[in-house]
Amino acid sequence: MTTTLPAYDEVVARYEPVIGLETHVELGTNTKMFCGCPTDFGGAPNTRVCPVCLGLPGSLPVANRAAVEATIRIGLALNCSIAQWCRFARKNYYYPDMPKNYQISQYDEPLCVDGYLDVEVNGEPVRISIERVHMEEDTGKTLHVGGATGRIHGATESLVDYNRAGIPLVEIVTKPIPGAGAMAPEVARAYVTELRDVLRSLGVSDVRMEEGSLRCDVNTSLNLPGEQWGTRTETKNVNSLRSVERAVRSEIIRQASVLGAGGRIIQETRHFHEDTGDTTSGRSKETATDYRYFPEPDLVPVAPDPTWVAELKAALPELPRLHRRRLQQEWGLSDLDMQSILNAGAVELIEATIAAGTTPTAARKWWLGELSRRANETGAELADIGATPKQVAELQGLVDAGKLTDKLARTVLEHVVAGEGSPAKIMVDRKLEVVSDTGALTAAVDEAIAANPAIADKVRGGKVAAAGALVGAVMKTTRGQADAKTVRELILERLGVQG
Ligand SMILES: [Zn+2]
Repeated sequence: MTTTLPAYDEVVARYEPVIGLETHVELGTNTKMFCGCPTDFGGAPNTRVCPVCLGLPGSLPVANRAAVEATIRIGLALNCSIAQWCRFARKNYYYPDMPKNYQISQYDEPLCVDGYLDVEVNGEPVRISIERVHMEEDTGKTLHVGGATGRIHGATESLVDYNRAGIPLVEIVTKPIPGAGAMAPEVARAYVTELRDVLRSLGVSDVRMEEGSLRCDVNTSLNLPGEQWGTRTETKNVNSLRSVERAVRSEIIRQASVLGAGGRIIQETRHFHEDTGDTTSGRSKETATDYRYFPEPDLVPVAPDPTWVAELKAALPELPRLHRRRLQQEWGLSDLDMQSILNAGAVELIEATIAAGTTPTAARKWWLGELSRRANETGAELADIGATPKQVAELQGLVDAGKLTDKLARTVLEHVVAGEGSPAKIMVDRKLEVVSDTGALTAAVDEAIAANPAIADKVRGGKVAAAGALVGAVMKTTRGQADAKTVRELILERLGVQG
């Protein structure tokens, strides 16, 4: 069955979307949430485990102070109130990758509540209310092998790796965000982007969405103006900032298509697919799972000393929004210029390129020009494009030194992006350096003059503009590797004409 989906503009003219975001952050602590097992990625399966994170009888968890501290700092950066006393809770459910058959989380007593994060969408400020920030532990990983899809269907064996079980997680939940209208997808993306930047500035996580250390679930519902909020779906598997925006947009269109045909939205989880940009149905949530939460009896309550919290607050780093404002002043940019840098996700890249020795103007030119264009073409994030700030600074250095023209530099950059190494090496390996050998250049000029006697006569006769054709001929024989200005001067000199 094929159905024609309604156009996005029509949908948002008719319905009001309400979104909400739940974000899981893997903390970068050295040890797990409730035991001393190491957290670093990549060990052989089930080598980073102990009786506590395997949930063996008789073992007792102890909360990781560094994880509590990181959570409080996140809460403070998100303008939350920090609970003076709160508890962990057991969330009971059965799943093979969860050895205890319950997850230690927080339920009705989260560590941080009622905050907000200010973001900017197309230059307009939007305040996103934060409902809660709480601590929990990650589960293990199940691997289904022997089948074609990696899913359980068709698999011959299912293997469980508990190395990830017990890694500290922080869950950050927004309040529902109504009123974003057509901008809902952009608002969702702006929020996750800003949140990622805040978390990175705090140094609490490496916040890599593609590696799962920052995971985002997006809730979406639609309602007609003046009516109650609709049933929401929860989209999972959203592994990049761009996907956050796409997932909201596609879910808004899908729901409108269902509602428009007289159907109803089912409360369920849905999975986002990078390749198609669609969501497909996952687990139904029509019947609420009873997790039988109760306070974790094996852990003492968390009661952070207010003096400690005040110290943590005073020691917070400059948060991204203020940092950007300072950079904008230092770089001498208008609001609009800064906005385009933000939209491209290029602030840190440009900052690092400048730190590597380039001017703000040049750094901006490369990241917003050639590299942004490539990122758009391939659908990649700018940071993953394959060129580093250091390489871009080096490239500009070669231009400044007269070794590359702008055009040649763009060619070199293509090879940098393709992973061929440093700009200087590529320039040499691929013989892309500007021809500065005057002897060779003079020979090429003389050749061009000899081959185009009529044009040469015109130039001699005072029609200096005609020299352009000779410049073109020289550029052709030097494969674009001569500096056009120098070539022109040389031609006029050889023809005895004043420039
Ligand atoms: Zn352990």
